[in-house]
Amino acid sequence: MRDHEPSQALLNWYDANARDLPWRVAPAQRRNGVVPDPYHVWLSEIMLQQTTVAAVRGYFTRFINRWPDVGALAMADDGDVMGEWAGLGYYARARNLLKSARIIHREMGGIFPQTHAGLIALPGIGPYTAAAISAIAYDHPETVVDGNVERVMARFFAVTDTLDVAKPTLWEHAGSLTPKQRAGDYAQAVMDLGATVCTPKSPSCNACPWQENCRGHARGIAPDLPRRKPKQPKPTRFGIVYVVRRDDGAWLLERRPDRGLLGGMLGWPGSDWGDNPTPAPPVSANWQDPEKIVKHTFTHFHLELSVRVASVTRTARTDVGKFINNNMFHQNDLPTVMAKAFDIAKGWLDRN
Ligand code: SF4
Repeated sequence: MRDHEPSQALLNWYDANARDLPWRVAPAQRRNGVVPDPYHVWLSEIMLQQTTVAAVRGYFTRFINRWPDVGALAMADDGDVMGEWAGLGYYARARNLLKSARIIHREMGGIFPQTHAGLIALPGIGPYTAAAISAIAYDHPETVVDGNVERVMARFFAVTDTLDVAKPTLWEHAGSLTPKQRAGDYAQAVMDLGATVCTPKSPSCNACPWQENCRGHARGIAPDLPRRKPKQPKPTRFGIVYVVRRDDGAWLLERRPDRGLLGGMLGWPGSDWGDNPTPAPPVSANWQDPEKIVKHTFTHFHLELSVRVASVTRTARTDVGKFINNNMFHQNDLPTVMAKAFDIAKGWLDRN
């Protein structure tokens, strides 16, 4: 088997089976000379970091409707962008998105860098994202390896080492198949194959253009690959948030510091998250405990957040955060964990 044969077979499959994605230029459009917009490719790749295609679709469409090019995004208000990102998670991505947009707009005349080196110098762009943008937007023959591609390579080449040690080998295998022509379509084709055919639990080998040459399939071990080291259990951290509503309907909110989890997002005042938090309330009030816990899982830990609730009058004073009028406050601007706390608090306040 020569290396270019699988890539051609996969491109033929992609021509007939490419997923319809709002940021994608379909293979038939590309044949007709349509080129991808690097702004769309970049935005989608940042959103897709550690987030599923299904979750990203709506966010991507709202972003490009509101900020149709990198110049518009560069001039956006930070709070508006963080609000539009709310619920997508990994909020450092949104802060870096804005930083990159401003660098591209102000220092590069609005032109995206085309090279891997130029792309990786921008905030929030690592080796994978630089390779993906370079391949998809500019057809550079970069080796693009995400989780889908790792799985497909482990199976196609029957790599049985656990993923933590197998990554360099999988990257080399992926590079050996990357074609010089149509590199952007090829990168997207392998991802599509992993997402729709060579799926994690039960690959549909009978529908796969690589079945004939797939070593994992031939050995009957494909569904067990890639092998993974047993996971360490995640620790649980605890926290308290204080949700207070003023008698004119305003809510006390604070913008979290830029660094750290949920950085730059709106949230309820409260504690750090640790073993035994005992924060002081942000305002003097008759605080109540609805006795409901918000449970949320981050990448490295589970969080159990207790909610305290109070009503205050317009004379209440605080040094923490700011009261935001009810008509200026949108629950959708909150990250998911804070929105869960809001649901508990509002339900309790409306009943009591
Ligand atoms: Fe994956 Fe099966 Fe295709 Fe091999 S033949 S790449 S295991 S879907």
